[in-house]
Amino acid sequence: MASKKLLLLPGDGIGPEAMAEVRKIIAYMNAELDSEFVLDEGLVGGSAYDAHGAAISEADMAKALAADAVLFGAVGGPKWDRVPYDVRPEAGLLRLRKDMELFANLRPAICYPALADSSSLKKDVVEGLDILIVRELTGGVYFGEPKEIRDLGNGQKRGIDTQVYDTYEIERISGVAFELARTRANKVTSMEKRNVMKSGVLWNEVVTATHKAKYSDVKLEHMLADAGGMQLVRWPKQFDVIVTDNLFGDMLSDIAAMLTGSLGMLPSASLGAPDAKTGSRKALYEPVHGSAPDIAGTGAANPIAMIASFAMCLRYSFNMIAEADRLEAAIAGVLDDGIRTGDIMSEGKIKVGTVEMGDAILAKFKALAA
Ligand code: NAD
Repeated sequence: MASKKLLLLPGDGIGPEAMAEVRKIIAYMNAELDSEFVLDEGLVGGSAYDAHGAAISEADMAKALAADAVLFGAVGGPKWDRVPYDVRPEAGLLRLRKDMELFANLRPAICYPALADSSSLKKDVVEGLDILIVRELTGGVYFGEPKEIRDLGNGQKRGIDTQVYDTYEIERISGVAFELARTRANKVTSMEKRNVMKSGVLWNEVVTATHKAKYSDVKLEHMLADAGGMQLVRWPKQFDVIVTDNLFGDMLSDIAAMLTGSLGMLPSASLGAPDAKTGSRKALYEPVHGSAPDIAGTGAANPIAMIASFAMCLRYSFNMIAEADRLEAAIAGVLDDGIRTGDIMSEGKIKVGTVEMGDAILAKFKALAA
């Protein structure tokens, strides 16, 4: 890839604190590994509202569209709870997803061996877990029309949401899942509710046809989404890549997330379609957690989700697989050493703050590169 234009949008609350730790890793990679990242920065969420009266300015939106990848921190906080609905902090993230046409949301659920004890499930059920949920992000019941509350005129109202999927939407999200499976354990589980939903019947048909046409080397299985939720909690290691729609993906990815412990550990990526000329995809990487106003400014935030989001960025936007592997190994290594932020602290471990955790991961990353 010719350029590595990276836009940093730290956002609000702990977003900037976590982003500062990624910035240190990028500075090291540029100085010592000739990685040649070109950084730009913008405002999003409450900080953008304070500066521009919008959840993201047009200039920063243009920067996001021109970047090879966007790293997003977190938005929101009590200060902006009463701002008008269309400029609320989350509107910045929704605008980015919409204008960058990010239709594929990737949520890995990885259980680091050092944290297997902090899951609510038994250690042997989660230890070493490594699954990836691919959620369709721009269609389905959250966006389908009609979407309204209708007054029936007899003292009753009717709430209506519409689940809609077109063939092309299912083809492109399942294509992402099959391609990612090829880089992992080569298995995709597609989840829908074909027993009660027409959109589920179509989903099942299109995933099957896409598999047959282009990806028959990948193992494919189908599961009803409710059974999938149950299996995720019963024996999650049976899965490699799970592909599902917007609504089921929203729920199943949160269930999978909690298998692995703290919110402060979980990265995510949202990808668009490949550019017809360059083959590169628009992409945004962000931790799953929010702006954590309760601990913002105290130096206690866990930066691992943000750093792991950057590792996903190395892997999926820049094809820097060795560096991504090494950064993820550095995170695992620091946890093995017993270093913990408050959210993942347990007896006998060494409690550190955001900066010390970032420093420890960077030192391990450097050591692994030597
Ligand atoms: P949250 O994720 O911010 O915090 C939930 C709890 O987890 C808090 O106790 C917090 O201290 C803890 N936590 C979260 N991330 C942590 C980290 N990295 N290290 C240590 N502890 C961490 O969710 P919330 O409290 O429901 O929301 C707070 C604000 O964030 C709200 O304004 C909400 O709208 C916003 N939010 C933003 C996003 C986003 O930017 N994508 C996502 C969720 C919530």
